Amino acid sequence: MPSVLLLALAATLIWLERLRPLRRRVDPGPRRVARNLAISAVTVATLQATERPVVRRLTRWVERRGWGIVPGLRLPGWLAAALTVVLFDYTLYLWHILLHRVPLLWRFHLAHHIDLDLDVTTALRFHFGEFLLSVPWRAAQILLVGATPRTLELWQRLTLAEVLFHHSNLRLPGRIERWLSRTIVTPRLHGIHHSTVQAERNSNFSSGLVVWDALHGTLRRDVPQRSITIGVPPYLDEAAVKLGRTLLIPFVSPRDRG
Ligand SMILES: [Zn+2]
Repeated sequence: MPSVLLLALAATLIWLERLRPLRRRVDPGPRRVARNLAISAVTVATLQATERPVVRRLTRWVERRGWGIVPGLRLPGWLAAALTVVLFDYTLYLWHILLHRVPLLWRFHLAHHIDLDLDVTTALRFHFGEFLLSVPWRAAQILLVGATPRTLELWQRLTLAEVLFHHSNLRLPGRIERWLSRTIVTPRLHGIHHSTVQAERNSNFSSGLVVWDALHGTLRRDVPQRSITIGVPPYLDEAAVKLGRTLLIPFVSPRDRG
């Protein structure tokens, strides 16, 4: 999916969020959007400087050597690409579990979860430290699965499209919701993952295919969106989620990290 299509998708989702909101906004002002974009800009710069060169070198090496699970199976190109995407999606699910279960990783992932609303801009609000810490995981994914530059890029773009979609505050018609959520993560499913209730937050970890949550017993569909408050106690006021405090949260926060 070319970048222009991703931009068009983001713009369409932002437009649809206004037409069919799923949850009532807590902080509808432009400051929150500007804050999320600023946090995202730091993360994108970090990715360009760290993950990108590592990934480029490793995927080229994998392609030359035929290293990893998928190249070893000698599948037709389209099937190899599909299997690479599925295996990356599963290993991203495992990484997301670690982000919640390992205290050091949670400190960084917390910056994403403390957003007081959940919409397309939340999909861009990740602490740069979380992505820095994910570089070795990404390298391991590439080597284990055997991703080439093209299959990795395919997964990255599909995942970004899906992450923009499932973070959006878009109320899908019931039938489309039921049909889509059998296969992929929808805004309703991911809304449960952003709940202030810890038991709800510890569910729906999948980023693409729902099957991983279903297989591991972490799938929940039983929480109505109107009963969900987005965020993480005790960071439930605007002062606690501002730009500077968000960037510092992994390093200095003395509060209970939820
Ligand atoms: Zn999470």
